[in-house]
Amino acid sequence: MSTGRYAPSPSGRMHLGNLMCCLLAWLSAKSKGGQVLLRIEDLDTQRCPRSYADAIVDDLAWLGLAADGPMPPVYQSDRSEIYQRYFDELSRRGLVYPCFCSRSQLHAASAPHRSDGQVIYAGTCRGLTPAEIAERSKTRAPAWRVQVPDEVIAFEDGHMGHYEENLARDCGDFFLRRADGVFAYQLAVVVDDALMGVDEVVRGSDLLSSTPRQLWLYRELGLTPPKFYHLPLLLASDGRRLSKRDGDQSLENLREKYTPEEIIGKLAFACGLQASPAPTTPQALARTFDWSQVPKSDIVLPENLF
Ligand code: GLU
Repeated sequence: MSTGRYAPSPSGRMHLGNLMCCLLAWLSAKSKGGQVLLRIEDLDTQRCPRSYADAIVDDLAWLGLAADGPMPPVYQSDRSEIYQRYFDELSRRGLVYPCFCSRSQLHAASAPHRSDGQVIYAGTCRGLTPAEIAERSKTRAPAWRVQVPDEVIAFEDGHMGHYEENLARDCGDFFLRRADGVFAYQLAVVVDDALMGVDEVVRGSDLLSSTPRQLWLYRELGLTPPKFYHLPLLLASDGRRLSKRDGDQSLENLREKYTPEEIIGKLAFACGLQASPAPTTPQALARTFDWSQVPKSDIVLPENLF
């Protein structure tokens, strides 16, 4: 059976971009007779209060997209001990090292950048001796990085096709844990998807470039990777990226104006799943769903659709 998942970070109410992702994760799994699990990605508990997580659960049920599996769902904030085990495993293998670099050191103008704007870490702290580590630990708690190989990690995305990165050149050693002890998304997402038995991941193409890192972690940890489907971004009608600050596109406001069937119908139209914005249900869409219906380039919401 296909097992997909929703993995929202509840730092606000859902907006249409988040909903598009949930709808397609649901359709992809259900059209194959599968299930969708829910995991709340609240590693950063300051930014992700339970009230927003509860609102997401309620919004999904209201839209007819309730997750399968246990309720309450999996909360990443409860799983530090699990992440620690996998962190220790990488550490035992000599792949993890403490990084004492400050924010300003990391973001120095001379630092090389990835195409997505993130800094490629120069490896400054990679070769520290035990004495240097002990000395620096007196004044600063380190973050922890994993040492990546000079190797191309390639994969075939179920929607976007071939994608590859050389981890050392294009990405650099990345964080596994922050200085305050919070585990990094890259580690948690791999461990959780593997332990939850997820075999298909549907998510925004802003995470396409994280996938080689994650595939490498799957390999190093001896875990089985899922199939990935990355979605085009959903943009506001003026071409801006939707964000949680776009109040008018948040579920809070949309629920006041429309029925669930109206929202699903309009969104399905914008995503190429049906020819008109007529009200519909996820079940009806699942009967004809095919990935070839979904555009590969960014989707601009037609003006006055919502
Ligand atoms: N929690 C992430 C987000 O809401 C999604 C992570 C993933 O799908 O791998 O953007």
